[in-house]
Amino acid sequence: TRSAVIVGAGQAGARTAAALRKQGWQDRILLLGDEPDPPYERPPLSKDVLAGSTSPENGRIYGPEWYADNAIELRTSARVETLEIGARRIVSGGGSAENFDILVLATGCRARTVDCPGTGLEGVLSLRTARDARRLEHLLGSGGDVVLVGGGFIGLEVAASAVARGCRVTVLETQTQLLERAVSSHVADHLARRHRHRGVDIRLGARVVAFEGRIGRLRAVRLADGSCLPADVAVVGVGGIPNVELAQAAGLSCDTAGVGGILTDSHCRVADDVYAVGDCARFDDAWLGRPVRLESWENAELAPQAAAKAILGAPEGYGGVPWFWTDQYDLNLQLLGLKQPVERVLVRCDPESGSFLTLGLSEGRIAMAALFNAGRERRPLKQLIELRAIVDPRALADPDTPLKRLAK
Ligand code: FAD
Repeated sequence: TRSAVIVGAGQAGARTAAALRKQGWQDRILLLGDEPDPPYERPPLSKDVLAGSTSPENGRIYGPEWYADNAIELRTSARVETLEIGARRIVSGGGSAENFDILVLATGCRARTVDCPGTGLEGVLSLRTARDARRLEHLLGSGGDVVLVGGGFIGLEVAASAVARGCRVTVLETQTQLLERAVSSHVADHLARRHRHRGVDIRLGARVVAFEGRIGRLRAVRLADGSCLPADVAVVGVGGIPNVELAQAAGLSCDTAGVGGILTDSHCRVADDVYAVGDCARFDDAWLGRPVRLESWENAELAPQAAAKAILGAPEGYGGVPWFWTDQYDLNLQLLGLKQPVERVLVRCDPESGSFLTLGLSEGRIAMAALFNAGRERRPLKQLIELRAIVDPRALADPDTPLKRLAK
């Protein structure tokens, strides 16, 4: 029988195993992950898990019986050390080797760190894994001063969760706006206001130079301007680094100059019988018409479907309007499209009502959108963007005109 080996047992790895089975792969499927936990979803880690209302276990993608029922061999705490593409073999820690006919890389990202003294102190951590979340949840339980290093999605979600736990919270961002890479300044300002309203001290243009402690424990965070913030916990959320080293060492093509990632075509294919999906892949997006690397739940769901189709001989171009969401306090913010320069920004519905949309237009088309507590508009809006429909700005800004009607 043939063997499909999947390296990385996160969301994309688990979904690839499921998609292969569902789409008709009848042979062996081996899913190898280096974490002790079976595959789980990460979005709750910075939200409900920190709020104390759920545990990482509740985010498990499949229960143990599912792996048995679908004949998926799952190995946890199993790190793959080497890929031998020519010999069609992978070698795990401890030297055990497995042959593959199909190899899927789903190695994800790891948290980027900051280069300054004191990162090893107790109380300084990043948030990527269930283990990190359990540890952080425990630390937040005792309240105190929490400093978020980085005003990205993870930093802001942790800030909201920490406020809910009664902590005093400061967010430090080196850029002049929050979420610089992902959202327009309009959206960022709105978020900043929400956080400040809850008492979060947001400092833009602020850079950490040291974590300071006593007897191995964090006590303060020192900034480049010489000031010092008291801190019991510091969470470093300064982005992810794609895990490409394994692929790179095996001679597979990777992006080393830009955002990183294992390079694939629009069918998630890296080389003959080798595929890459999820956060680790920089794929040629069939809709955008250019390569992108996405760190999103949706991409970890959909890329595996596309890879399985290609593996089973029915390739379809993968790509579409990127979708991402974040939950902070009582705000559910959904984003469609990638950040880009736009000619005009429209607002649909009254921001005062708490439920509204901002729409960035270019050449008469919607290029990107932010939905504030307005998830019900996502489908029709996504369709308008996907179709690259020319829209009448007046109708678009008028909440009494259903978005569905604009698609015609
Ligand atoms: P991962 O989930 O990172 O899985 C990769 C796995 O491979 C890991 O377990 C890793 O340890 C393992 N691995 C790596 N190298 C090896 C090796 N050599 N051998 C064996 N195993 C290996 N997205 C949204 O759209 N909305 C959200 O609200 C949102 N919130 C998030 C909150 C947090 C705290 C985090 C961390 C992410 C969030 N995301 C969110 C992003 C989303 O979770 C990721 O895009 C998704 O998890 C990517 O899945 P993946 O399988 O590609 O990578």
